[in-house]
Amino acid sequence: QAKNAHRNTLCFFDPHMQHAIEQHAKLELELRQALAQNQFELYYQIQMNSAHQALGAEALIRWHHPHKGLMYPREFIPLAEESGLILKLGYWVMESACAQLKLWQQNPLTRPLVLAINVSAKQFRQANFVAQVQELLEKYQISAKLLKFELTESLLLDNIEDTIATMNRLKSMGLQFSLDDFGTGYSSLQYLKRLPLDQIKIDQSFVRDLATDANDKAIVRTVIAMAHSLNLDVIAEGVETEEQRQNLSAKGCVHYQGYLFSKPLPIQDFLALLKQN
Ligand code: C2E
Ligand code: MG
Ligand code: MG
Ligand code: MG
Repeated sequence: QAKNAHRNTLCFFDPHMQHAIEQHAKLELELRQALAQNQFELYYQIQMNSAHQALGAEALIRWHHPHKGLMYPREFIPLAEESGLILKLGYWVMESACAQLKLWQQNPLTRPLVLAINVSAKQFRQANFVAQVQELLEKYQISAKLLKFELTESLLLDNIEDTIATMNRLKSMGLQFSLDDFGTGYSSLQYLKRLPLDQIKIDQSFVRDLATDANDKAIVRTVIAMAHSLNLDVIAEGVETEEQRQNLSAKGCVHYQGYLFSKPLPIQDFLALLKQN
């Protein structure tokens, strides 16, 4: 009787919610299997300067889901972070990036390129994160200068003293840091000047309406001036049109990433793009 009553209390779920929870649990299980079965792939999006030279690339993860086909990070990264799987996934990304960089050293076209990877907060906060990086660089015999970590404002702000300490250890090895999605968080000059960053990445939301939105225009101009005064490199993400590129260039931003140049591509297509470039 008591058992039945207990069972009944579980029935307050509406069917939609129940379905959502089941899907969520299913996806988590599939994500675990995906790691074991190597269903992930890195895509590479080129980063350019104003002379149309390739500077590097950003590695962006994709999941070849056995039933759902190609899945984008917004569909599984939040779940990976929630479940803790991001630690294994992040390590996979870092190792794949290092393996790719090793291959890139054999080709004059790819040898100078810096590869940027996105690092999530949980991954960065691991006690042995620096050791992991060190190990991978040694395993693949690549220079730390070729690797750039993209971090978000919320990661950087949370426990800033520890963040700075970890960043400094990695920087002393030669790694570079970029502040991703800049402008969407709580950025203030106060903390920005304390962080050992190399680059800030202007978020695509500011780039989108640059030609028409007076606020975006002012923000972008200020951000570029501020970055330059702090000796930081600036790159704009989400550059889709030549007009946007020219607007950015006029404001002093000379590094770009976006569909104007190329979408993120599987490695073979990325190499073909470099050749034709
Ligand atoms: P993000 O690091 O800010 O990456 C930029 C996103 O903008 C990418 O989406 C990219 O495909 C997209 N993008 C690039 N150029 C353009 C453009 O011209 N127009 C538009 N509309 N979009 C453009 P994607 O690949 O879906 O990745 C989304 C986010 O997922 C990334 O944002 C990043 O935060 C996260 N992510 C991707 N790969 C990884 C990873 O390996 N590890 C972790 N922790 N996060 C990742
Ligand atoms: Mg990024
Ligand atoms: Mg970004
Ligand atoms: Mg973004």
